[in-house]
Amino acid sequence: MCKIAICPGSFDPITNGHLNIIERGLKIFDKLIVAVAVNVTKKPIFEPQERLEMLKEIFKDSKHVEVDSFKGLLVEYAKKRGVKAILRGMRNMSDYEYESQLVLANKTLDPDVEFIYMMTEGKYAHLSSSIIKEVITFGGSGCGMIHPIVEKRLKDKLRAEIKT
Ligand code: ADP
Repeated sequence: MCKIAICPGSFDPITNGHLNIIERGLKIFDKLIVAVAVNVTKKPIFEPQERLEMLKEIFKDSKHVEVDSFKGLLVEYAKKRGVKAILRGMRNMSDYEYESQLVLANKTLDPDVEFIYMMTEGKYAHLSSSIIKEVITFGGSGCGMIHPIVEKRLKDKLRAEIKT
């Protein structure tokens, strides 16, 4: 049986912390569906289509990663894809608090879906999409924190925003 998990997130943008979880997840699962959540409650910097494009470029040679996006409930998306495992990462106690609420809400909606968590690696523990946006905004380097494809896109986006 092929073991598949969905790795959902805003990925606004994807960081090396996310990539590390995906790489390690591939040692456990045969295939991962990295799914951009089109989340209406967060105000994203990148449009879902732009986030998808970055992910597609990053994973273009990864046979075991599929990139997709979904709107609405994660459990509905998982049902539609016929997948019962959700892979997420965890950095600290604030992640724990948020993630435990997420799991309980989703388990209420569909008790068959299982959430699997991977603890971040130390060097990524501080890394978040918001931090990286600040680093790049103030002229810092994204080296070791984001993929070069993401760094270029982020610089272009932030420069365009400064001009407007
Ligand atoms: P969401 O808006 O769904 O929380 P994110 O893109 O912010 O989406 O995060 C997706 C998942 O990746 C979450 O489980 C989050 O805890 C995890 N994550 C984010 N940054 C890191 C990191 N540096 N190391 C490990 N996991 C991370």
